[in-house]
Amino acid sequence: MKVARLTEPVDLTNCDREPIHIPGSVQPHGVLLVLRGGVATQVSGNTETHFGLGVHEVLDGGLGVLLDGDTLARVQEALATESLDDNPLYLLTTPVCGQGLFDLIAHRRGQQVILEFEAARSGRPPVDSYSQVKRSVTRLNATVNLAEFAAATAEEVRRLTGFDRVMVYQFAEDGTGTVIAEDRRDDLTPFLGLRYPASDIPQQARALYVQNMLRIIADVTYEPVPMFARQGDGEGEGDVAEPLDMSYCVLRSVSPIHLQYLKNMGVNASMSVSLVRGGALWGLIACHHSEARHLPYDVRSACELLGQVASVQISDRQERLTRSYQWQLKTTQTQLVERLAEENDLLEALVGSGMNLLHFIDTPGAAVCLNGEVVLVGATPSREQVTALTGWLDTQADLDILHTQTLGDLYGPAQAYAGRASGLLAVKLSRSRHDYVMWFRPEELQTVTWGGDPNKPVQVSEDGTDRLTPRQSFAAWQETVRGRSAPWQADELEAARALRRAIMAVVLRRVEELGQLNERLERSNADLDAFAYIASHDLKEPLRGLHNYSAYLLEEYEQQLDEDGAAKLRTLVRLTQRMDNLIDSLLLYSRVGRVDLSVQPTDLGALVTDVLEVLAPRLEQLNVQVQVQPDLPVLTIDRVRVGEVLSNLITNAMKYNDKAQPQVQVGAILPAGRAAHPDLRVPDGVPEHACVLFVRDNGIGIREKHFENIFRIFKRLHARDQFGGGTGAGLTIVRKLVERHGGQIWVSSEYGQGSVFYFTLES
Ligand code: ADP
Repeated sequence: MKVARLTEPVDLTNCDREPIHIPGSVQPHGVLLVLRGGVATQVSGNTETHFGLGVHEVLDGGLGVLLDGDTLARVQEALATESLDDNPLYLLTTPVCGQGLFDLIAHRRGQQVILEFEAARSGRPPVDSYSQVKRSVTRLNATVNLAEFAAATAEEVRRLTGFDRVMVYQFAEDGTGTVIAEDRRDDLTPFLGLRYPASDIPQQARALYVQNMLRIIADVTYEPVPMFARQGDGEGEGDVAEPLDMSYCVLRSVSPIHLQYLKNMGVNASMSVSLVRGGALWGLIACHHSEARHLPYDVRSACELLGQVASVQISDRQERLTRSYQWQLKTTQTQLVERLAEENDLLEALVGSGMNLLHFIDTPGAAVCLNGEVVLVGATPSREQVTALTGWLDTQADLDILHTQTLGDLYGPAQAYAGRASGLLAVKLSRSRHDYVMWFRPEELQTVTWGGDPNKPVQVSEDGTDRLTPRQSFAAWQETVRGRSAPWQADELEAARALRRAIMAVVLRRVEELGQLNERLERSNADLDAFAYIASHDLKEPLRGLHNYSAYLLEEYEQQLDEDGAAKLRTLVRLTQRMDNLIDSLLLYSRVGRVDLSVQPTDLGALVTDVLEVLAPRLEQLNVQVQVQPDLPVLTIDRVRVGEVLSNLITNAMKYNDKAQPQVQVGAILPAGRAAHPDLRVPDGVPEHACVLFVRDNGIGIREKHFENIFRIFKRLHARDQFGGGTGAGLTIVRKLVERHGGQIWVSSEYGQGSVFYFTLES
């Protein structure tokens, strides 16, 4: 029979590619034997040491040469009857070839039965795993939070195993592992709180840890024992068997890189138990010992069981936390959506009293920017900073939702307020305006203490070859992480998206309703204009008859009437004249709404000069001083209509004046120049880009209670003939003209001192 050695020396060029599940060798503290159909096909090369038999003899004789008749029968029966799978099963403890005691452990991989003979200490009473674990579980159940739970787990595993140091690692999403609990010999340096780079545990090791819950290295200085296979037992004649998949073998030889890593750490024996949550590696229970240490099967199974209980408990605890937060997100979302539906004011619904955005997503600060208003809740950047931030958000790609833990990295000015908003979750409410809902998370100034410099997890060896060696320094290495907030969770992002959808639905519905309302209003305005026009037009005809007849009567028959009759007739003529004036005003007013504007770039300075020229005779007559600002802008407007506006306002300014020296000032406040007119106040809500024109006088002034009334049609504040008379339609027409230009008009005045009429035109 030919026998082939299966060990291939492991090349250290790339630890992520190393096939650690098929090392082709085992640790020396036991013998590994592979059976296929009852025949021995592979065996480790240490049979001579443990059993006093050569590899050939074992491969030839199989189990028959190792066990005495009785034991062989028991083992064969167990292998035939027990449902073997990849979970190693303890069969019995027995002497082999009369050479001491061995624990015999079996599992199955496909067609192969894998038997591991682990040297056992004689005379040791077996550990009662059940009662040991039961005691530990009772203790774990009594803990109240994850930190306490992890600490109890470390202590219990150390009590069971007697390792120098037992740690619980938790892996973060980036693969780094932090020691969250530790129980150790008093004289050892503490590792609690240290973080280890992701590369310390390569990918394929993590995958293996999910399948096989427990690994042990009894002595890191061991010499790997190669596997030998019977030649010709592969697929064809003379083939060598495939290297054995040792994923579930307790004797599996481990990566030389890992051994070196442990040696560099000063560790001589190690064991690790996986903590698995939802099919992924959540963490590890890692045990270290400064001397060689082997744990028997029963203690290992107690640890494995404890690891499984801990895995379930961790899942349970985290899920409970997550579920209660998810519940909070859901219920607040429902309440917010209900309020959105009921409350007319969207802002009030989102940030009003009682429940608000902060109760929705757990942050210390939030903001809503809606229709130019900014409302801040809790700890946030200043109003100006939030407004500037919306400007930046507008420039971001077409995003409905933006979230970051490091706003300062993306948007420089945010570094100034990292303490309030290193984390930003922003939801865009409209495409055209700067409407956003934002949540802010403060910087979590953390000092991370790495177990060694994370930037040098592996080093290139000094001989110049490309080979990698595990890092040698585990001296604590501190790094302060700035400008980073706690992360946004997937549930929070989903909740923010859902809220956005709800708000958008409400906004859309409102816009639709408003559109319909506007349409109805426009229609009724047009109807009213048409009615006013027709009515006044038709009234003019009979009125002209009345006027003419009464004027004729006065002329022809005045002599025949007594004084009283003649006076009444004169009043009749005056009244018809007045009524004619009123009807003219009404016609003019209705026409303003009906004619189309003809806009063109117009030099306002020239326009004011033209208007003043027409008014010159009256201005002179009343001795009015007019002052016009020299740098009036050029605006795209209807020249004739804006001329009417100016003419009306200037006429009023000189008419309603009782001063010996009436003064009128015409000027403009340009968008950039509002500060240049500290005495003139432009109210909030006037668009920033609008040009504000004003006509100021030192006349009789208007009481504040009349500020709105004077714009109503036929509303006069004085007796008919006072201040040169008038119909009271002038300002109504002026307002309509300004509004047709998309502007607004308002007045400010001090009674007895003078008034300022302002109106805006788009620049
Ligand atoms: P009228 O044809 O009477 O001038 P307006 O609509 O132009 O009608 O003005 C309405 C009323 O507003 C006036 O009757 C007057 O009482 C008041 N008013 C208008 N302009 C001024 C002003 N510059 N100073 C004081 N009162 C004014």
